[in-house]
Formats: sequence, C-alpha cells, structure tokens
Amino acid sequence: MTKIFLDTEFTGLHQKTTLISMALVAETGEAFYAEFTDYDKLQITDWHKDNVLAKLWVTNKENIETKDDLLYVVGGSSTIRAALQKWITQFAFVEIWADVLAYDWVLFCELFGGAFGIPENIFYAPFDLATFFRLKNIIEPISKYDNDVKRFAYAGASMDKQHNALADARVELACYKKMMNEK
Ligand SMILES: [Mg+2]
Repeated sequence: MTKIFLDTEFTGLHQKTTLISMALVAETGEAFYAEFTDYDKLQITDWHKDNVLAKLWVTNKENIETKDDLLYVVGGSSTIRAALQKWITQFAFVEIWADVLAYDWVLFCELFGGAFGIPENIFYAPFDLATFFRLKNIIEPISKYDNDVKRFAYAGASMDKQHNALADARVELACYKKMMNEK
C-alpha cells in the first residue's frame, strides 16, 4: 500500500467550483501534476489570478520542474483523467491523503464521473491531514480561523510556491512525515 498526497486548486469554495490544477505525490517519490484548460473562467477572481493562475508553471512556461519521477500534463478534463488513470496503475494499491479535503476529494471523484468511478486500486475513503494535525494537538481551534498551523512553515518550505498544487502536495507529504516522527 502506498500513501499518495493530493492537492487541487479550483475556482472557488462553493458547490459549482471547477478544477484549475491537481497534483498527486506518492510517499515513494512518484508525482503527477496537471493543469486544466477547461475550468470555468467566469469564476476567476483577482485572487485566483494572483495566487493560483500565476503559479501554473507549465501554462506560464516558467520554473518547470524536470524531475524524472514527475509526469505533468496540460489539457482538458478527459485528457487529464486518461493520463491519471494510466499513471495510477504503477501502484498496487493506494490510499489518498489531502489537507482540508472536502473540495479536493469531491473534485477528484468527479473527474472520474463520481466516487464509484475512481480507479480500483484506490481505497474508497480519503484521509485528512488536518485531522492528523488536530489529533497531534498542533491545531487547537479557539475561533473560526485562529490556532491553525501554517503548513509551509511547519514543513520548512519556502512560501513562494504556495497554491501551486504540486508544491502544496509536497508540503502535505513533508508535514505527514514530520508528524509521524514526532512522539
Ligand atoms: Mg493547494
């Protein structure tokens, strides 16, 4: 069984949101990264332009990562679904982790036409990094947004790539490893 850390960027925190980008990073080093061309442009705000679209490094042709274990794809949802279906076959069985994953997980399932359509080698239930932080008392809520933990700082990562899905998924893996090593 392989743990895979998922992150997505999308067009808004609401039910009609659409995928902008998606990354899956395996604990064993393999990575998948996709930038979607068919997200709903009408939902794009200035925040998305500055924080998400500006960090789509393939579309923007900048800072492209060239690691051998990375597969990246740019295209519409059907192209990305096909690439991901093929990429995931290299693993015998996987479980998916993500951070505050309600939107990520629904969008991941929707890419495959719903939860019953996800590949057979993926466990049906995702696991939430935020819950793991809570159980470790690293997150101890006192009001709506207070006493959360800054994931990039916790992972010791540079903030400049935050909201790039691949960078975010790698930070998730780093946070997971760090918590596993803490008593
Ligand atoms: Mg993200």
